[in-house]
Amino acid sequence: MISPALLTVARCPECRIALAPQPPGAVCPTCRRVFDGSRGYLDLRPIEAFAEQTKYLDKSLHVDARHETVAPPLLGSKIRNDQLRAFLELAPGDRVVDLGCGSGRAMIWNRDTGASFTGVDISAFFASESLDQCDLLLGDLRRLPLADAAFNKVWSLDVLEHLSPQALRDMLAEANRVLADGGAMFVYTHVRKNGPLALGVRLVNRLADLLHRLGLLDLGTERLRKSDHLNPIADHDDLRRVAAAAGFEVERITYYTPIIGAFVENILTRMAEQFMARRSRTAGTGGADAGAAVRAARKDAKTRLRKRGLIYWATRAATGLMYLDVWLWGRFSSGPFFARLRKLPRTTP
Ligand SMILES: [Zn+2]
Repeated sequence: MISPALLTVARCPECRIALAPQPPGAVCPTCRRVFDGSRGYLDLRPIEAFAEQTKYLDKSLHVDARHETVAPPLLGSKIRNDQLRAFLELAPGDRVVDLGCGSGRAMIWNRDTGASFTGVDISAFFASESLDQCDLLLGDLRRLPLADAAFNKVWSLDVLEHLSPQALRDMLAEANRVLADGGAMFVYTHVRKNGPLALGVRLVNRLADLLHRLGLLDLGTERLRKSDHLNPIADHDDLRRVAAAAGFEVERITYYTPIIGAFVENILTRMAEQFMARRSRTAGTGGADAGAAVRAARKDAKTRLRKRGLIYWATRAATGLMYLDVWLWGRFSSGPFFARLRKLPRTTP
């Protein structure tokens, strides 16, 4: 949606000044550029083509329709969302921006906190719930079309690893700029340097590869999803340096080595998907090709999850098991992590 509040914080991506409302969108009073809003979000992408584009723009990643509706948070996404809530302590009155919001599902999951949300992404693969309930805009994370200090909390999930070192610096500096003094940013990403525990994840993934080759599960989409990782952060010292350069201090960090998580998500879930896709193809409901069958199976699974039936509770139980990854080795430094960055007061020269 495009609320009056969004129009007060939105800025022209070129001139960086406030926009004038012009239903269904807005117009820049200086360069006179008109920003479309007819689709339920404001298109504030800069005119110039980006030198750097992520494969998330790729339609092939979205053919399975997983972005179209929001299912309840489960498995890894439940763990990430619980950490987000614990780290950011969302409360009524909070003004939050989701940088790289994707479908916008994390905003939907946290609507019950009473905070207000603005989602920013470079491509418009928004879920219908997000279009109805959250402010949304298209924009470049390295040059946010948003006012200074307009928010008190920011989060960015599974985004930083897709950026180059320069884009990461620009993005963090922009996140800092749109935060008010005392504001906080929550990130979930990973560094290149892994700890010894990563061996556990590697072994599980090797097993997943083997099962993929045997045709017992399909890792195609997951591979595509990770194929454009640039992994700009070397290690956790590098994280502290990069954060400091953008005006943040790393206030709190929990490491996340998903050994059980990899087993549940990359093996059990993929096998269940494959099984359901086969079944719907046999029943003639999934269409002729394998992609359509997987799409149908995933839609079917989402409907079942929403009905809170057996599949929902089985997945909830698997999610509980995955929590062991946080409880058992959350203190041991490894690649992936959750962190809270605090905006430092500006030092006057
Ligand atoms: Zn302008």
